[in-house]
Amino acid sequence: MVRVRFAPSPTGFLHVGGARTALYNWLFARHHGGTFILRIEDTDRTRYVPEALEDIKEGLRWLGLDWDEGPDVGGPHGPYFQSERTELYRKKAQELVEKGAAYPCFCTAERLAELRALQRATGQRTGYDRRCRNLTPEEREEKLRRGEPHVIRLKVPLEGSTAFTDRLRGKIVYENRELEDIILLKSDGFPTYHLANVVDDHEMGITHVMRADEWIPSTPYHVILYRAFGWDPPEFAHLPVILSPDGKGKLSKRHGATSVREFQKAGYLPDALVNFLALLGWSPGDDRELLSREELIQLFDLDRVGTRPVQFDYKKLEWMNGEYIRKTPDPVLMEEVRRRAQAHGYTPDEQDVRKLVHLLKERVRTLEQFVAYGVYFFQDPETYDAKGVRKHFQPAEEVISRLTSLRSRWASLSDWTEETLESSLRALADELGVKAGKLIHPVRLALTGFTVGPSLFALVEALGRERTLRRLDLAIERLQKGQVEVNTPS
Ligand code: GLU
Repeated sequence: MVRVRFAPSPTGFLHVGGARTALYNWLFARHHGGTFILRIEDTDRTRYVPEALEDIKEGLRWLGLDWDEGPDVGGPHGPYFQSERTELYRKKAQELVEKGAAYPCFCTAERLAELRALQRATGQRTGYDRRCRNLTPEEREEKLRRGEPHVIRLKVPLEGSTAFTDRLRGKIVYENRELEDIILLKSDGFPTYHLANVVDDHEMGITHVMRADEWIPSTPYHVILYRAFGWDPPEFAHLPVILSPDGKGKLSKRHGATSVREFQKAGYLPDALVNFLALLGWSPGDDRELLSREELIQLFDLDRVGTRPVQFDYKKLEWMNGEYIRKTPDPVLMEEVRRRAQAHGYTPDEQDVRKLVHLLKERVRTLEQFVAYGVYFFQDPETYDAKGVRKHFQPAEEVISRLTSLRSRWASLSDWTEETLESSLRALADELGVKAGKLIHPVRLALTGFTVGPSLFALVEALGRERTLRRLDLAIERLQKGQVEVNTPS
């Protein structure tokens, strides 16, 4: 029976790396009909960020990664917050001390700092020198009786090696002399990550640990702990590191959005992000890239997870998101556009939103782009694209005259349709002896402020007679007064 967990520390917002870890665990659980557990590793109070917990839960829910056990849903192995399980860790640490696999260490912070300084100065490897490991039982008893503050440290074997099998990488061996007597329980009685993580993975019956590969160096300690307790370790699979788009370093804020909430805000669809993250280290074995959630569940397999670092390709994600937008029913998109337009301070009209979605659905790659590219459905242009003004609004006299003629043609149309609009424009161009573009480009600029967009005549039909004529007048007036404000789109 597969039992896997996502075990975030609430130290910040849900990052795409964390989301990928959660997704792989979730897919693995769903594929095998197993259990996906959410466990909050919140024992490091110094790094605790209060909003992080809600953000993580919301991010997982938004991605559709529902957990079977954990916060808000409960389960037979709760509580699922480590801060509520500290009694258990204390007991387990004590158990190790009694077994001789761990020991109390009374060294003060000052002593450890001095030790580190000395080690640095003399070019030695820094680390605890195991002084308290060598206390006599009497010395130890005496210090405990006096109530001296202490931590509990793991008694790492001094010789030999510790090995484990990583499901993706094979056998990984650490020489024990390279390892340290790490702290398991801090002097305030709180566990460190290592102790709490191992105790909980065992107590919660975790069968497979899938996590980022930065945890590989922690794994030998975990293996020593499992042995000390007399438990079988779970299977480990360390997921490949996620690099920046250029592959030169780890993905970071410098490269763009990194948190799930940022992608949500920018108008990515959860299914698109799930599809994209699934392929960040795993592949279905062929060159398929668009895979539904059901297909992912059906196909996901640890054997097809790689170990090589993967590059986070924003362009690909954007492309993929566009594909998902095109598969989304219009009413769903309309609701999104309405909400997003309102968030930008507009009061969108129901019909306009419908037309906008219809016109731009094939062109946008994010939901926010509906509003950014279709902003002319919500307000008259105040500024015009700078390059467009240079190309299509000059010489002003000519443009004014052409726009004025077109305005009167369109004003007298009895039918306001794509076809009538187009044929009257083309007829006018013929009469004036100019190419249709000499009308089409300035009109688009006058109506939208942009130089590109959907088919002009469909757009003019959608904007309607009143708005179109008003905006033509506005552009003519601004051109006459020489008051055309320009903008340079980013
Ligand atoms: N709390 C750790 C983290 O934040 C969990 C690592 C693990 O999965 O063992 O990544």
